[in-house]
Amino acid sequence: MHYTSPWMNAELEGFRDAIRRFVAAEVAPHQERWSQQQHVDRELWHKGGEMGMLLADIPVEYGGSGGSFAHQAVVFEELTYAGDMAFGIHVHAIVAHYILNQGTEAQKQKYLPLLASGEMVAAIAMSEPGAGSDLKGIRSTALRSEAGYRINGSKIFISNGYLADLIVVVAKTSPDAGAKGISLMLVETRNCPGFKVGRILEKIGQKGQDTCELFFDDVLVPADAVLGGVEGEGFRQLMTELPYERTILGVSAVAAIERALQLTVEHVRQRKAFGQALIEMQNTRFVLAEIKTEATIARTFIDRCIADMMEGRMDTELASMAKYWLSDLQCKVIDQCLQLFGGYGYMLEYPIARMYADARVQRIYGGANEIMKEIIARSL
Ligand SMILES: Cc1cc2nc3c(=O)[nH]c(=O)nc-3n(C[C@H](O)[C@H](O)[C@H](O)COP(=O)(O)OP(=O)(O)OC[C@H]3O[C@@H](n4cnc5c(N)ncnc54)[C@H](O)[C@@H]3O)c2cc1C
Repeated sequence: MHYTSPWMNAELEGFRDAIRRFVAAEVAPHQERWSQQQHVDRELWHKGGEMGMLLADIPVEYGGSGGSFAHQAVVFEELTYAGDMAFGIHVHAIVAHYILNQGTEAQKQKYLPLLASGEMVAAIAMSEPGAGSDLKGIRSTALRSEAGYRINGSKIFISNGYLADLIVVVAKTSPDAGAKGISLMLVETRNCPGFKVGRILEKIGQKGQDTCELFFDDVLVPADAVLGGVEGEGFRQLMTELPYERTILGVSAVAAIERALQLTVEHVRQRKAFGQALIEMQNTRFVLAEIKTEATIARTFIDRCIADMMEGRMDTELASMAKYWLSDLQCKVIDQCLQLFGGYGYMLEYPIARMYADARVQRIYGGANEIMKEIIARSL
């Protein structure tokens, strides 16, 4: 059965080859060490910048590589095929899109080239100890003072938090104005009195990703640090940009499903029990036949989503469907695959075991899947 994604072309094939070679040389050999130290090497970001993979779909005039969403999707796919969950390009690219679509011209010119080159690493800080799904309940504030804005509060579970040089901080500029009082603040973390990175959190998976707590104690930022230059636009900006993030999570989910299937087929072909290879048992064949069918459906669906992103017509319901359905499927498929590895599937030296642990959070971050269903239900 032959299938090529309708958005693939010769130029993207060349780009994929280059990314694959980069990942094999600069990512795969270091995964174990990054897991131990709980973050990638800072140098990787510079190398990724030189390679042109950090902002693959941001216009050249802002330092990006000038590609389409398909280019960015290829980067995420190749990282997933190589089993990488440490290099936080996903969040970095998400932040770049906030700046591209919601920032002032000055903010775009200042930050996008630095993000493209890897001179700055980006993070986005929404979640707080007391508010994750219910973002309107955040308590961080950014209050206007003569010198600019003073930010106070704490954030939790922030991807890229340890290495980030630029953090989009969700804060209340008018604490009594509900959703209309929320703004996104651009915070540069170098030489930033009052800013503190807490511990890198110990997770069950994605061990090489620097997920952190962050603390803001009277952090002063200039008056022009409000994303887009106008206070109170934060909630609208979040709702506008979250579909990009959710589609990306779907892209990675499908790549993980494809990888799990491939690893499992290889394993059951060579592993023997009761005098035959596991693949000769009807249960194995039926389970893998079902997974291959589901992987094909998932691929067809995500290709439609990628095409919609490329055409600029992705909507919030479809992105929520991609995020919820594909991440649920990813966890189910990887669990079934792990079963076919037997005890080896439970050993961390086997990639399927890591994939199992890495996958679980896909149903939680980017908006829990229950929240995705609420969003989809609103469109009924
Ligand atoms: C590894 C990792 C990386 C992350 N990276 C980032 C990041 O970079 N930036 C960032 O800001 N955040 C990040 N997060 C936070 C993540 O987005 C939140 O954990 C997520 O939104 C859920 O919020 P919460 O943990 O506060 O759970 P809660 O809001 O307490 O929800 C707990 C559970 O309750 C249920 N629930 C909640 N609301 C509803 C509802 N309305 N209807 C039905 N059920 C509901 C869901 O099952 C949900 O999982 C990350 C989290 C992890 C674990």
